[in-house]
Amino acid sequence: MLVVMSVDATQAQIEAVAQRIREFGYTPHVIPGATRTAIGITGNRGPEGQDALRVMPGVDAVIRVTAPYKLVSRETQSEPTTVQVAGTRIGNGFTVIGGPCAVENEQMIMETAEFLWQQGVRLLRGGAFKPRTSPYAFQGLGEAGLRLLAKVKERTGIGIVTEVLGVEDVDAVAEVADVVQVGTRNMQNYALLRRLSKLRRPILLKRGMAATLEELLMAAEYIVSGGNREVILCERGVRTFADQTRNTLDLSAVPVVRSLSHLPIIIDPSHGTGKAEYVPAMSRAALAAGADGLLVEVHPQPARALSDGAQSLDLAAFREMHAALRPLAAALGVEMC
Ligand code: PEP
Ligand code: MN
Repeated sequence: MLVVMSVDATQAQIEAVAQRIREFGYTPHVIPGATRTAIGITGNRGPEGQDALRVMPGVDAVIRVTAPYKLVSRETQSEPTTVQVAGTRIGNGFTVIGGPCAVENEQMIMETAEFLWQQGVRLLRGGAFKPRTSPYAFQGLGEAGLRLLAKVKERTGIGIVTEVLGVEDVDAVAEVADVVQVGTRNMQNYALLRRLSKLRRPILLKRGMAATLEELLMAAEYIVSGGNREVILCERGVRTFADQTRNTLDLSAVPVVRSLSHLPIIIDPSHGTGKAEYVPAMSRAALAAGADGLLVEVHPQPARALSDGAQSLDLAAFREMHAALRPLAAALGVEMC
């Protein structure tokens, strides 16, 4: 259920409604809006309490939210969620996040960060903990990788997006990360999602490689319902029979998610295609489709990368792709940030 407060409802009236919801044994989630406040209710199984809430002072309407995901639903919040982080605002313009698949050594991560910063990119991606299909593949530098990211952040000022693999690493990752990434393999790791719901950091939640959009939104609901409203969704391709690309990038996720949810959605054209040569076209398509940004792999020497080299743009290719996005963004009336 959702309680919509009237435009002139007072803070005391909002608190009184929240208190009444608690008395029913439910959980209130106060959602401030540009003109009015709404209060999402979770934990209730039926319409019980609806009439009692409807007649309270300051209440405009009590409505049933029909979607299975409640707090991330458009029904609950019509205004888009924006996430203010590291000098950029995700969900209000087109935000490009770039960087290598993995942090490999100080020289390459510093070089990439300095280059991207000069290009106007304000968020650097790079995994310290890597989820690899093979246990024999490079697993990331772990805590040493986090320390390198901290150094890069201190020296350049760039914000850090980095993945967390398990609950045990959340605190260490959150110390360095401006945005904590949840990978495709962990989208349905509910213990991890619950832990991240208590974290005061934005979460970049990637779509599971075989997940429906409803499952993605339900995963986001775990994070938001626990109290962390700053979730950025990421489409990174799903498994299909198509084998010319690593995954099939589902760009239709952008308008679908847009219609179902208020959360921002960005596109990962690197994992979506698996081949650097296809990344610029899908990046332009993401912008044209209305995505809130890109998560793109960039490496100073892709041929020498320890992971995902084939899908990583080198610095010149990134510069060219980024430059080509600008006139397109201008034509669409979208600000690049
Ligand atoms: C990554 O971003 O490097 C990554 C491992 O992505 P995904 O979880 O989408 O495979
Ligand atoms: Mn990767």
